[in-house]
Amino acid sequence: MVTTGTIWSVTVTRYRCEACGNLTRFDVTVLRRTKAFHHFNLAGDLDIEDAEVLSEVVEEVQCRWCGTGGRVVDLDPGEGASEVVTPSS
Ligand SMILES: [Zn+2]
Repeated sequence: MVTTGTIWSVTVTRYRCEACGNLTRFDVTVLRRTKAFHHFNLAGDLDIEDAEVLSEVVEEVQCRWCGTGGRVVDLDPGEGASEVVTPSS
């Protein structure tokens, strides 16, 4: 039996489907390379600890509502907050 002792750190990216306005439901295909400490006890049960994401590539994000990935865009959680404000004349 495999138990995970660590919550995997997942890059939180929010998405928006420009085709239908969906903000909440997406099928996300991620290629993730991880390193973890596999800790077996004497009975052979595995406890996975210190899981670390070495690299993460989002391969595909598909809108769950309209089934297309062509119109899905990243939604910056700090949208507007990190923009450089240029004083206008
Ligand atoms: Zn959609």
